[in-house]
Amino acid sequence: MFTAFLIKYAEIGIKGKNRYLFEDALVRQIRHALKKCSGEFIAHKTQGRIFVEAQTVFDFDETVEALQHVFGIVGICPMIYVEDEGFENLGNTVVDYISRVYPDKNKTFKVYARRSRKSYPKDSQEINRDMGEIILNAYPEMKVDVHNPEILLTIEIREKIYIYSEIIPGPGGMPVGTGGKAMLLLSGGIDSPVAGYMIAKRGVKIDAVYFHAPPYTSERAKQKVIELARQVSKYTGPIYLHVINFTDIQLYIYDKCPHDELTIIMRRYMMRIAEYIAKKTECLGLITGESIGQVASQTMNSLIATNEVCELPVYRPLIGFDKQEIVEAAERIGTYETSIQPFEDCCTIFVAKHPVTKPNTGIIRKHEHNLDEKIDELFRTAIETDEVIIVE
Ligand code: ATP
Ligand code: MG
Repeated sequence: MFTAFLIKYAEIGIKGKNRYLFEDALVRQIRHALKKCSGEFIAHKTQGRIFVEAQTVFDFDETVEALQHVFGIVGICPMIYVEDEGFENLGNTVVDYISRVYPDKNKTFKVYARRSRKSYPKDSQEINRDMGEIILNAYPEMKVDVHNPEILLTIEIREKIYIYSEIIPGPGGMPVGTGGKAMLLLSGGIDSPVAGYMIAKRGVKIDAVYFHAPPYTSERAKQKVIELARQVSKYTGPIYLHVINFTDIQLYIYDKCPHDELTIIMRRYMMRIAEYIAKKTECLGLITGESIGQVASQTMNSLIATNEVCELPVYRPLIGFDKQEIVEAAERIGTYETSIQPFEDCCTIFVAKHPVTKPNTGIIRKHEHNLDEKIDELFRTAIETDEVIIVE
């Protein structure tokens, strides 16, 4: 029965002179999200409000779900709109609307009229009062409550007339594309997809890099990462996923460095390669799924060691999260089920029994010199293997 949606947005409404940039980005992201839905829509901005109007029949649930993936939206109000054919007709429309949206009429309500077309023959107060009366006549079991109504029935008088009363929550955040671009280090685990989601939610476009170590990590492990990127891309739009063959670097480190420092040194090379690609592709930062103390390579000391090899800022949005909180976020955004599929990950294969938890960066640097002979060449070769997969 609904034919349109009013899109509510919060933060982007307060950006002063740049406000239109944010609104335009939001409209663009909405159009992009709706392309995947059945049905035709027009998304447009009028007088500081964004409307999505269906032009054909459409699947309500599918459309709402698509809109719930657009950062910047805080609320989605399903609406009906009608031509202005006089107040009596509007009354019939409203009564019919209530009968269909609220099978149970034992509810309190308030009519809230907004009249942006000032030539309308009644002012807002009159509309509130007269429409309230019409509703009470049709449904005597309903009650008016002006302070805390269960149903806030909004009637917006514009060129057409819009009626809505429900708000479905959106994801919040800022429209993707308003905040630059960052490179996500995406593994097959639970954490990194959530980290990417969180930074994208602030309006940042995401590219990703995955370090693959065949034959130690399988093709299926890679497919799992592609699938995770696809799930994140539902929110972020297309992701350029760089798959880097990391095997030779890993074997070389294994060969030349103390095994208890393996993970840290490996992580330092991941960061270096990720940063190299990030700079080449105009990313303004790196993103990881690290959280203090989660594993040996994520203690504060270890983080100094992985951080010092990068110039770009490294965003670690999960830094203060407990595992359980990350799991809940992963479930909410829809990546959890894929993340827990049991495929080997390149870090777990080469891990030492007792990895250092307090690496000394001086010593790490010294041991990295064991790699001097071949590492530059391996670094170059790894970058040449970069396979870019556009995931959407
Ligand atoms: P996740 O659940 O994200 O895999 P984790 O708990 O397994 O995290 P680590 O393996 O220590 O943690 O990795 C820390 C971070 O390093 C990850 O969140 C991710 O950003 C990055 N990372 C680890 N392995 C890879 C990989 N193979 N490819 C790309 N990034 C990786
Ligand atoms: Mg991992």
